[in-house]
Amino acid sequence: MGLAGKPVHCASQSKHIGSPSKSCAKAFQLAMLDWYEKNGRGYLWRSQIDPYKVLVAEIMLQQTNADRVAQIYPQFIQRFPDTIALARSEVEELKLILKSLGLDYRAARLKNIAQKLATEYGGEVPSTEETLSALPGVGLYIANAVLCFAYSNRVPLIDINVVRLYERVFSLRSDKKRAREDLKIWEFAAEMMPVTGFKKYNWALIDFGAKICMSKNPRCDKCTVRFICNYSSDQYGSN
Ligand code: SF4
Repeated sequence: MGLAGKPVHCASQSKHIGSPSKSCAKAFQLAMLDWYEKNGRGYLWRSQIDPYKVLVAEIMLQQTNADRVAQIYPQFIQRFPDTIALARSEVEELKLILKSLGLDYRAARLKNIAQKLATEYGGEVPSTEETLSALPGVGLYIANAVLCFAYSNRVPLIDINVVRLYERVFSLRSDKKRAREDLKIWEFAAEMMPVTGFKKYNWALIDFGAKICMSKNPRCDKCTVRFICNYSSDQYGSN
């Protein structure tokens, strides 16, 4: 049921990916922000605004369980507190510290990024999507994560969990094989960003996709946006 006690339908307004209605966007934003206040995960990197520390966290989080990253992130940041220290590191030592995360190539990638930052940007992390995306292994997601969490830009983040959440609630249908790479989804997500609280909103979507709207067996009975979710409505009838 909707905010006024009536069912709300929040399917995309066009056949594929259209703009969200203002009332649906607002209801979804408020529900996510409220859920995050009560259930959000307090990872150390979320209290960082140093662009280097945010960037390191995001490289570690690629295709990796956040709880495993949390176990080594403090040690890594203490050992390599800035780009210069990381640029001078030995790849073998990095591999050793990162071993529990898997994806061995990340050790060399981190060092390469740090060396590029040291030689081309005086050790600073750049603050535009174009320059961030030119760093080794950095795509739109990581670039936007740094822009949002370190530089306070109101930009969206789309990963496999977030795209699933938007697809289900708003009945989005991407033509792309990998919906998370569909620029129309990114445009939709940009329209969904709240004016205030956008960092928390991005964290909320990440956590909500991991804890409630999972790929298999989403916890619709515990879901705070069930009243506007088209997937739930289709599966279980009227919300
Ligand atoms: S109602 Fe179910 S499918 Fe819809 S957002 Fe919530 S958990 Fe996901």
